[in-house]
Amino acid sequence: MTGMLIIGAGECGGRAALALRDLGYDGRVTLVGDEPHLPYERPPLSKEAMSGEAPSIKAIATDAVLAERAIRHIHSVLAVAIDRAAHTVQLSGGSSLSYDKLLLATGSVPRKLPMPGLGSRCVYLRTFNDALAIRAHLGSERRVAIIGGGFIGLELAASARKLGATVTVIEAQQRILMRGVPAEIAGIIHKAHEAEGVAIRTGQGIAAIADDGKEVAIALADGQKIVADLAVIGIGAVPVTTLAAEAGLAIDNGIAVDEHLRTADPDIFAAGDCCSFPLAIYGGRRVRLEAWRNAQEQGALAARNMLGGNEAHAAVPWFWSDQYGLTLQIAGLSDEGKNVVRRDLDDGAFILFHLAGDGRLVAASGIGPGNAVARDIRLAEMLIAKRASPAPEALGSQAVKLKSLLAA
Ligand code: FAD
Ligand code: NAP
Repeated sequence: MTGMLIIGAGECGGRAALALRDLGYDGRVTLVGDEPHLPYERPPLSKEAMSGEAPSIKAIATDAVLAERAIRHIHSVLAVAIDRAAHTVQLSGGSSLSYDKLLLATGSVPRKLPMPGLGSRCVYLRTFNDALAIRAHLGSERRVAIIGGGFIGLELAASARKLGATVTVIEAQQRILMRGVPAEIAGIIHKAHEAEGVAIRTGQGIAAIADDGKEVAIALADGQKIVADLAVIGIGAVPVTTLAAEAGLAIDNGIAVDEHLRTADPDIFAAGDCCSFPLAIYGGRRVRLEAWRNAQEQGALAARNMLGGNEAHAAVPWFWSDQYGLTLQIAGLSDEGKNVVRRDLDDGAFILFHLAGDGRLVAASGIGPGNAVARDIRLAEMLIAKRASPAPEALGSQAVKLKSLLAA
């Protein structure tokens, strides 16, 4: 019995290792990660972790928990090759580990800005070490340029403003959060940033970057120039697939797995940011999700199926973002919608319900202060999972409780 081997000690890998033990598995569980830390949460890195003097790690499992659950965590080591016939994985130090079942939870990495001129003052945010380096440059009287008006960029912009930095966000598209966030909601977030003093430049290509190691000069396509002490680049993430590809596994916008998170090799699974999978509630559409809850859910599902289960991924996609006092939550895939119905809640919060052409509820996007939209988004998620087609008038009326639609 050689046991269960997990490559990638992030959200998904960490949760999968714990889940194997929760399920009663008493064989060997080995978790290999190339970072020097315990498995940790990434969401705080652009939010709370930036607020203190120095970021601290929010571990998914402490050393004591890993020891108590007999999970062997090998850190600071890269898995470099899989020998599928021998059921072994070679590590960067030269040793190798054998497996009965292997889970690839290799995550994603920041998309690189393909431009000359980038130097030490042009950085990306993915890891705790990245967060440490960025935090060291934030504070009042610091100038921060953020390239990319997506989640990393905007959450970091909010954190940097709280610390008193001067912040400019540069977004190539005509508006921020172009992908996956409805324009009405992106507009509210845009206004919140401007009210907090962030300058947002949309529809702006970058003509040139010059980084001399002390400051960065960014020339925009329209001729304007932005000079900053630090440029943070947040232009998307790409799945980490090399290990799988070199082992001959199929890649299709991520490591391609079936609904059970299995690759074409029955002993190799992939889960979390690194994989694409068919989502039954959207007719088997192949998607790759870059979201915290998905990494958790898929880690646990992969563990169940590695132990002989045959369960299909059925969870509704969901993610959130916190910026200033606002929380955005989206359940489902809003690009599946054709029609939108708005439901106003208290305190300026609202939810947009996205309905397919046949009336089925396919997504719900909400924004409001604190937890204002959480309950209704949760109920919407249950309606989406049920493939319900609630009457648009009912969805739009605050007088009709969403719970009653669920019972219908
Ligand atoms: P990862 O967390 O990326 O973990 C993969 C790990 O595998 C990494 O440690 C990597 O170094 C390691 N690895 C890769 N290849 C190898 C190899 N060959 N050998 C050994 N180790 C390897 N999502 C939300 O829903 N809401 C949020 O508010 C939110 N905030 C975020 C903020 C930030 C700053 C970031 C970066 C992400 C945020 N996310 C958020 C996304 C969420 O954190 C990710 O979706 C989640 O971490 C994915 O988990 P994962 O385990 O699949 O990948
Ligand atoms: P993202 O949300 O995909 O946003 C990247 C943005 O940058 C997009 O709007 C993109 O536009 C734009 N862009 C691309 N190329 C550009 C260029 N050359 N110049 C200026 N703008 C450009 O990705 P991200 O914000 O970098 O986040 C990275 C990862 O962290 C993702 O996995 C994300 O899910 C995760 N994360 C999630 C959260 C959250 O869910 N709350 C928070 C932080 C991080 P196009 O659409 O045209 O490419």
